[in-house]
Amino acid sequence: MNNNKYKILVIEDEHNISSFVKTTLEANDYHVLVAATCKTGVMMFASHTPDLVILDLGLPDQDGLEFIRVVRKDSAIPIIVLSARTMESDKVEALDLGANDYVTKPFGIAELLARVRAALRTRRLGSDMLAVPGGKFTLHDLTIDYDRRQVTVGGDEIKLTQTEYNILAMLSEHTGKVLTYTAIIRFIWGSMDDGSVKKLQVNMANIRKKLGSKPGDNRYIINELGVGYRMLEE
Ligand code: CA
Repeated sequence: MNNNKYKILVIEDEHNISSFVKTTLEANDYHVLVAATCKTGVMMFASHTPDLVILDLGLPDQDGLEFIRVVRKDSAIPIIVLSARTMESDKVEALDLGANDYVTKPFGIAELLARVRAALRTRRLGSDMLAVPGGKFTLHDLTIDYDRRQVTVGGDEIKLTQTEYNILAMLSEHTGKVLTYTAIIRFIWGSMDDGSVKKLQVNMANIRKKLGSKPGDNRYIINELGVGYRMLEE
């Protein structure tokens, strides 16, 4: 066995799903452990120190949110929530409790693997809310030069306001990962009030327009309705 493999703990009570996820991840060179209850998951988390957790919210003994509450007291491990629930409020609650991302059942292999890679990359970078580093970001024909705070599309400079630039830079620092409205608003404006989400949506609409995106055209940023925004990966 390759000892450098990432270790992933899957907490899921439906055997069909856990075995599908296990097979998929193992085929992509991850080492996989499976727990079928929240309590077993917490125990295995403590004894095996995995690199990432994939967590079902509907577990037989406790709500999966309980796992996030327990583990987040002293661990920054990436947690991807796996849920049949389509309720946006559940996703937002999990994300705001500290989950890194979510996948809604039924999901495809490519989607799951993309989320896993994005979450592990966040871990390598260290903290979730790092200051934007120097260097450049590119996605298709979009380039962000962090040192010059300059954005170009197809070589043409895009004039963004300070706030628009900060939002775009933050999203680009977390490509592939959904950021909730709350997370973006706290980072950009420091605090939330009744008008914050509207203010964010107006800024996002302006960013998309300036980047040349038409409504429904998700070339750079996906609007996760009722949850937040996700910058696409190359
Ligand atoms: Ca379940």
